[in-house]
Amino acid sequence: MRTCVGCRKQASTSELLRVVAVESEDGVSVIEPDPARIRPGRGAHLHPDPACLALAERRRALGRALRVTGVVDPGPLRELLGTPDGGAPVPPDQQGRTTDMSTR
Ligand SMILES: [Zn+2]
Repeated sequence: MRTCVGCRKQASTSELLRVVAVESEDGVSVIEPDPARIRPGRGAHLHPDPACLALAERRRALGRALRVTGVVDPGPLRELLGTPDGGAPVPPDQQGRTTDMSTR
């Protein structure tokens, strides 16, 4: 069991998305998804849910979980999950089957 850094609920690793921080040249740590769980370094776990990402961002939980001291950029994650306030960009190949994750 792992704890979601957003809602703080425990879930099995298969329900949670692993994310890692990748430091870029300008000192910003970009949070990238690691669905295959193969990337080196410290990872954090999060429900693949924009609401949990928003919670994690608001509480600065990602930076803390990933031991990032500087600026955290969850851009790639936000692109993947969308935003909870309706601005969710849904990739064309996922339209109409957004419930896949919960039914499997
Ligand atoms: Zn969560």
